Amino acid sequence: PGEQLPHDPSKKTIVVLGNGWGATSMLKTIDTEDYNVIVISPRNYWLYTPLLPSVPTGSVDPRSIIQPTRYITRHKKRRVLFYEGEAMAVDPEKKTVTFQDTSPIHGEGGPSTINYDYLVYALGAETQTFGIPGAKENSCFLKELWDAEQLRSKTMDCIESAVFPGQTDSEVDRLLHMIVVGGGPTGVELAGEMHDFVVEDLKKWYPELADRVRITLIEALPNVLPMFSKQLIAYTESTFKQNKIDLLTRTMVQEIKPKSVVVKDPSGNKVEIPFGLLVWAGGNTMRPITKDLMAKMGQHQTNKRGLTVDDHMVLAGSNGTIYSFGDCTATSYAPTAQVAAQQGAYVGRLFNQLAQQARLEAELEELKRSKAELHEIDSVSKKLLKVSKYKPFHYSHQGSLAYIGSDKAIADLPFLNGNISSGGVATFLFWRSAYLSNLFSLRNRSLVMLDWVKVFIFGRDVSRD
Ligand code: FAD
Ligand code: NAD
Repeated sequence: PGEQLPHDPSKKTIVVLGNGWGATSMLKTIDTEDYNVIVISPRNYWLYTPLLPSVPTGSVDPRSIIQPTRYITRHKKRRVLFYEGEAMAVDPEKKTVTFQDTSPIHGEGGPSTINYDYLVYALGAETQTFGIPGAKENSCFLKELWDAEQLRSKTMDCIESAVFPGQTDSEVDRLLHMIVVGGGPTGVELAGEMHDFVVEDLKKWYPELADRVRITLIEALPNVLPMFSKQLIAYTESTFKQNKIDLLTRTMVQEIKPKSVVVKDPSGNKVEIPFGLLVWAGGNTMRPITKDLMAKMGQHQTNKRGLTVDDHMVLAGSNGTIYSFGDCTATSYAPTAQVAAQQGAYVGRLFNQLAQQARLEAELEELKRSKAELHEIDSVSKKLLKVSKYKPFHYSHQGSLAYIGSDKAIADLPFLNGNISSGGVATFLFWRSAYLSNLFSLRNRSLVMLDWVKVFIFGRDVSRD
């Protein structure tokens, strides 16, 4: 791949793995004048995950919440290369990454190997299924855009199949039973969106069926949303009750069959519940490539939750050559977009500082070599000393927000060293404006706003893709 690269051998090469929240934020911040930068990811866009739960019901169009990575790379001072491919292995000894085009259409080139001076490892995580039988085969996930699109198609398939004549009542009820497993924010937001779809749209389009649609949220813990305040947990649970979303807490999913899920209920009994559609939102786990990297790094990397990094986001055992952040790391922070974005921006600034330090070192060397005036050497030395101090990463929490359905949202916001908890319709308006303002570009913001207006005027589209 080096042939296409505007490669400058005098500059260090940074290979960036991933283009999610962390990597994109790092790319936006780094001054590419100082480095050769190459980005590798199997998808060629950045995804705004906070609005992903709105996609399966058609509240937001899939294309409104993505932004091509080339939009960022082509606007950088020095061109950044992007390869749509999947990193297959990292060799921290040889400082190489092997990657491959794993998309359905690809050329004849096999896996490619690239050298790096610095590696930015921001691959995120994948969906955790705890090895539960049938979880991968018989459920849908909600992690990537294609998951949400598949979920949308399957939802409508269930509805249309339920309309089909000649079926027993119990089969129709099964087809119309939507189960979400996992009472974290992903599961709660999706259940809320599903409720809106049933009440606001299916009631109009399928009046004979809509009242038979059931939504169930299954959670192993005693309550949903453990990261929110008690007051907001209670508010969410009572809103779900009003919205007739069945909440089964202290209920552990043990097996997922093609048409039913086996759970252990709070009394310890095994119960089998039929469903038409089941969404698995059970949390995060490490990607296989991350486990492989950890194995290569021996005693430096032993945390079962993810990669160990120091407070400058340097991967333990990498001698300062690998930086990692976001959902693939195990830190004291929650695996959220907020954290990944702040860490990514921090590493971008760190690279800018490293480059500045290298420039000053070269300048000082030159001044000494040419026996420059003492005060000139002194001034550059002082600047160098200042720039060689690297502040550790500091996280600034902006609050937690979640949509819970029927135009209500919840928010835990830091305020004057305390916390404000709020829930309801006003919080929903705040949620909308906060999510809108965090979108990548004016284009994204306009598209999402138009989607909301479209749904308000015409309702959601019920055609199946
Ligand atoms: P990601 O954003 O997941 O990026 C990982 C990147 O690595 C992707 O670009 C992927 O394509 C790429 N990749 C994967 N495998 C490879 C490979 N082998 N080689 C190269 N590249 C690879 N957080 C919040 O703070 N607020 C929210 O409202 C919120 N809502 C969410 C809603 C949903 C439905 C989900 C699933 C998550 C939500 N999150 C939210 C969490 C947030 O999305 C993650 O914490 C965040 O995406 C982590 O950023 P990251 O850069 O570490 O990983
Ligand atoms: P999560 O880890 O927060 O929640 C997963 C839930 O699934 C847990 O409560 C767990 O007890 C439950 N679970 C796991 N196995 C189960 C089983 N066998 N039976 C029943 N329940 C089971 O996962 P998430 O909701 O996908 O969130 C992942 C990360 O993304 C979190 O850090 C979250 O804060 C962040 N996120 C934030 C937002 C937001 O801020 N609005 C939205 C989505 C995700």
